[in-house]
Amino acid sequence: MELTPLENWLPTNNKPLLIAGPCSAETEEQVRETTDQLAATGKVSAFRAGIWKPRTRPGAFEGIGEEGLPWLIAAGKKHNLPVTAEVANTQHVDIALKAGVDVLWVGARTTVNPFSVQEIADALKGVDIPVMVKNPVNPDIGLWVGALERFHRSGITKLAAIHRGFSPIEKTPFRNAPMWRIAIDLKRKIPGIPMICDPSHIAGDRTLISAISQRALDLDMQGLMIETHRDPDNAWTDAKQQVTPAALEMIVDSLVIRESQISDPAFENVLEQLRQDIDLIDERIIQILAERMKLVEQIGNYKRDNGVTILQVQRWDEILSKRTQLGTALNLKKEFVKKMLELVHSESIRKQNEIMNAKTEVTK
Ligand code: PEP
Ligand code: MN
Repeated sequence: MELTPLENWLPTNNKPLLIAGPCSAETEEQVRETTDQLAATGKVSAFRAGIWKPRTRPGAFEGIGEEGLPWLIAAGKKHNLPVTAEVANTQHVDIALKAGVDVLWVGARTTVNPFSVQEIADALKGVDIPVMVKNPVNPDIGLWVGALERFHRSGITKLAAIHRGFSPIEKTPFRNAPMWRIAIDLKRKIPGIPMICDPSHIAGDRTLISAISQRALDLDMQGLMIETHRDPDNAWTDAKQQVTPAALEMIVDSLVIRESQISDPAFENVLEQLRQDIDLIDERIIQILAERMKLVEQIGNYKRDNGVTILQVQRWDEILSKRTQLGTALNLKKEFVKKMLELVHSESIRKQNEIMNAKTEVTK
């Protein structure tokens, strides 16, 4: 996918690149005060504000609508910073373009719906505006890639992805489970795509924002979008997760910025050597897994010929407890060893199932 580098459409001199502003534009004063305070920190690269708010249940504040756009645009002009707002349909696109929004973003509840994404993408044909695409609410990387592809096919090359976490199935400390692996995979599937982390919507709680931001930067994400409000506790939406501009400044100052690459030959040499060692170990792990799978096959054949079931729960219990004990003695986390064994075990069962069913085919 041919992309225009991020620095061509967002100021990237601040490290980390920071997009900040309220969850929702509420009043002219609230937008002005919040953005004035944000600009005074000197750490912000763009302002955000929700104009149309997707709410789960009807009856809650659903965004100020069109009326709020001039407040956001005025803040951008005053501080010479680009502004971004969410669009969820073609009407939003028309209004946002007319008002002069610099960057559009598509929300998590829109990315899930290819019809909506396509309509927005069609409305943007021939328009040279950057678009940031939030991950879908469900952990389906295909929808995320697909949405970015739809915009790209409409001729948009100024694209970024926003990682805002996924609706959790199990209870987690987060409002939206980060599932970092999916964001990393997206960067592999679309090389060069800038990835911006939205710790506010992952956290759902302001106390977690700093840790999530640090994690995102350590995973080499290109920037952060953090909801900021002059008076978070009284915000009309997402009150718990918003921070004041002063708190944002403290969070950003406490982040450790590590380089993803440094041009120090001695460092590179050591790193290269360590990576080669890791490569060798990975190769060994795979060879050993293949050997193990051969044994699994032998056992499968043997069980089949003797009419024995694939799974013997007792044996599995024994494997789990012995191996996790060994792991713990070797300083590996019990949970990690358990997860790995479960993965290996389920593949072994699948293999033995195949063997059993092959026999059924033959005898049919
Ligand atoms: C937002 O950024 O205000 C928003 C609604 O986010 P999401 O689409 O990630 O829920
Ligand atoms: Mn929000």
